[in-house]
Amino acid sequence: MAEIDLHLHTTESDGKLTPPDLIALAVQRELKFIAITDHDTTDGLDPAWKAAMSSPQLTVIAGIELSTDIPGNEIHVLGYYIDHRDTNFQMLLQSFRESRVGRAQKMVEKLGEMGMPLEWTRVREIAGRGSIGRPHVAQAMLERGYISQFQEAFEKYIGRNGPAYVEREKQTPEAAVQLIGEVGGVAVLAHPAQVDNLENVLTSLKAAGLKGMEVHYAQYDAETVARLAALAEKYDLLPCGGSDYHALGTPTERLPGTAGPPMWVAEEIRDLAMEQQYSRFG
Ligand code: AMP
Ligand code: ZN
Ligand code: FE
Ligand code: FE
Repeated sequence: MAEIDLHLHTTESDGKLTPPDLIALAVQRELKFIAITDHDTTDGLDPAWKAAMSSPQLTVIAGIELSTDIPGNEIHVLGYYIDHRDTNFQMLLQSFRESRVGRAQKMVEKLGEMGMPLEWTRVREIAGRGSIGRPHVAQAMLERGYISQFQEAFEKYIGRNGPAYVEREKQTPEAAVQLIGEVGGVAVLAHPAQVDNLENVLTSLKAAGLKGMEVHYAQYDAETVARLAALAEKYDLLPCGGSDYHALGTPTERLPGTAGPPMWVAEEIRDLAMEQQYSRFG
């Protein structure tokens, strides 16, 4: 059980716990250092910080997860210690969230054409006010009985290479890394185990400013962790990680704190972020 978890979602994107409820769980699990990394939004941060005020032993840092598509693969980039008050950054995030709506609608259309009609209003309702995404579509499919398990939606239909998948608008992973750097954040490659040609991706993202990669992650086994740790060392990247907790309640889901890196990693991320802030503001 680690005391650190650098990858957590809330109801502001596709997680099922509100930011205050996630903080309560982190406190209950005796975590010391967490990052909230919702998809394309930082709206969970203020309520999380407010909830964490009465728990000074817990540090909650500003995070984000940006997603990009490359041929055959998805590349997700995490950002830590981002300046979430930057107005240009917030405008971009808003445009990413808006394009998520169109993309989800297109996936719903494709599913309809495949004989699995969904009510768009229901999908919107499941997503609530946060960033809409495939898990919300998956839940609507589950409700309609088109699948018997949440995971099946991804395995059969809306996974990266599934028949109802719709790509995001073009944003390269390099651009995502640069964007995080521009707002003073530390950019980290998320869940890299399934990325093809990972070494090429690492070389290119490193040149764009990548500072770390997830080595410890959800269900990664010891062999995978060892392979990724060796790559992190080779490319001089911080070995980060977390549970990618969404509170889905599925049997294999890892709880906050069960897949994090050692505490020195958090300290190095903080030091890097401070260096970047100094050079950013002079
Ligand atoms: P989106 O942001 O709409 O592309 O959806 C991505 C999210 O869907 C991820 O952050 C996960 O929460 C979820 N997801 C992606 N692939 C899978 C999968 N194979 N099984 C379960 N959830 C998945
Ligand atoms: Zn997610
Ligand atoms: Fe991800
Ligand atoms: Fe995630």
